[in-house]
Amino acid sequence: MPAIASLEDARLVLGEVFGHAEFRAGQGEAVQAAVAGEDALVLLPTGSGKSLCFQLPAISAFSAGRGTTLVISPLIALMQDQVDALRGLGVPAAALHSHQGDAEQQQAVTEFLRGELVLLYVSPERAAKPSFRRMLARVRIALLAIDEAHCVSQWGHDFRPDYLRIHELREVVAAPAVALTATATPLVMDEIASRLELRDPNVVRGDFQRPNLAFSVQHLRGQDARLEALRAALAADGLRSRSGAGRAIVYCSTRKATESVARALRAGGFPATHYHAGRTKLARERAHQAFAAGRSRVLVATNAFGMGVDFADVRLIVHFQTPGSLEAYYQEAGRAGRDGAPARCILFFGPGDLATQRRLAAANPTSRLIAQRRSAALEAVACYAREIRCRQQLICAHFTGSDEHAACRCCDVCLDADAVAGAQAEEAPSRPPVTELPSEATQLIVEAVDRLRRPVGKTNLARALRGSRAKSLSRGGLLTLPEYGKLAEYSEASIVAAVDALLAAGRLQKTGRKYPTLWIPGKPVRAAPGARTRTGTAQTPRRRGFSTRAGPVARALDNYRKRTARRLKWKAYMVFQRRVILAIDREQPTSRAALASIPGLGPAKIERFGDDILALVREHGGSQRDFE
Ligand code: ADP
Repeated sequence: MPAIASLEDARLVLGEVFGHAEFRAGQGEAVQAAVAGEDALVLLPTGSGKSLCFQLPAISAFSAGRGTTLVISPLIALMQDQVDALRGLGVPAAALHSHQGDAEQQQAVTEFLRGELVLLYVSPERAAKPSFRRMLARVRIALLAIDEAHCVSQWGHDFRPDYLRIHELREVVAAPAVALTATATPLVMDEIASRLELRDPNVVRGDFQRPNLAFSVQHLRGQDARLEALRAALAADGLRSRSGAGRAIVYCSTRKATESVARALRAGGFPATHYHAGRTKLARERAHQAFAAGRSRVLVATNAFGMGVDFADVRLIVHFQTPGSLEAYYQEAGRAGRDGAPARCILFFGPGDLATQRRLAAANPTSRLIAQRRSAALEAVACYAREIRCRQQLICAHFTGSDEHAACRCCDVCLDADAVAGAQAEEAPSRPPVTELPSEATQLIVEAVDRLRRPVGKTNLARALRGSRAKSLSRGGLLTLPEYGKLAEYSEASIVAAVDALLAAGRLQKTGRKYPTLWIPGKPVRAAPGARTRTGTAQTPRRRGFSTRAGPVARALDNYRKRTARRLKWKAYMVFQRRVILAIDREQPTSRAALASIPGLGPAKIERFGDDILALVREHGGSQRDFE
């Protein structure tokens, strides 16, 4: 195998080892960066040939005597496929994972320690083990490749906690790193670079347009309408019969749905099977094999059937239910048409889908930052479904942050925008739709709760904000709220949906076990005495400012948050809450790491305000402290 000095040499390896005539878009740049020993961050769509971006430099580095390339990969199946393919090409590669027998593991370790491997694949969990790290120190490592790097993003759909520890490897291994993903917004790209501690990485951003994929959205309510549309789509692609070319994947949000949809399809004569993580290993393997062999041409699956799936002739991908983010959607839909021939990607969308996703998010409380980003991700899917704009243009803009993408000319909007708008209007439910509330209205909800003397249920709150005279509102000061009746123009369901989003984002919290009620996070439930006037009107129980009893750090931070809130047009508590100020005053942190242990101060806040906070603590803290 020749060593590589230039892109021309790389092209030779591309032909000789991989049998490809030309680099695909993005591959050349990524290979060049890695061969030059620089870090790289590669964003290329699924199926575009990302693995070659580190496999080819691995071969080059090995030939030049620089050692083995270590690949961190999140899935055993993914590792094994790549190892098999590389061995088939005559490239010595191995994987280390928990599904191997002792002998196989031992052989991989021996080959690795002898420096015989061009590539070694390991899981992030394995890479974090001290024993593995000790072994790494004994072998020359040429390159660190991190596949599916978006798994490092805590809010993302594929988050893997051990990805957060990969950066530690850089202390053990003096080698450039290349991180690869098919699914990252500009924000997630930044997160990948910072969490993996990439050094001034070359960023390679591929073209996200997939000219052979025709995207469309169908606005549908209810299971029956969706099943009917699904059967029609499958039949139109000739997927009713057992024989014929091509196959289809139908993605559902829940395991139960995969079972019922597959059952309904089989009852209609479609060769369908289902796949989800709750099935036994044997059943999953059978479903996979039946689909691979073409006995079941339709696979109904949850997102467990995902990364590493590589069937060239998937002609149709239907999302029976709306996924939680556009990243998840595009990654799943992108599995269609990998052979370059025309394929269709259809999203079924209904207002109920968003409510379901919000409910799921509210039922799984998580950090505020993650909840906010999940909520934003859901908004992006809704926007994709509702906007009358070229579907691929919208997706590309989402991923690249640029609006300069040509229209695809094959999605439903490009083909007939009027028909799409008409169908969307027709499917709008007859009862008042759940509309998104503008930010002023959601802010008003938070203010109303903040003003209350005690927690209230969300339905009662929604009714009060709509101006209802219901008896149930007579308690708790709801009828005398200044915000009473201010949201009369919105439906109760819309206000309740907005409350759910506020809960998911952590701006409101639930209290009480038997009857969950709403409250402001961190605010004591009992208002300070005197917060009520004689007429019973609830005054804002919010405390203003910090008394002179508070330490200088607390006062300085309070002034800082007020200034910042004015500048950003935020409420002061959105900069950080009073309890955060008190905790900083108490702990007097002197580093970003110490700030991270202050409850209520997440990574985004630290990123944005951390340096200012530390400067204020330095300036006002220490001996000047007089607050206990
Ligand atoms: P990804 O990881 O981006 O989803 P893969 O690395 O699995 O994609 O590659 C997808 C397919 O593209 C593979 O079958 C691979 O052999 C093929 N491929 C990769 N690079 C090239 C190239 N330069 N020319 C032709 N085919 C390629």
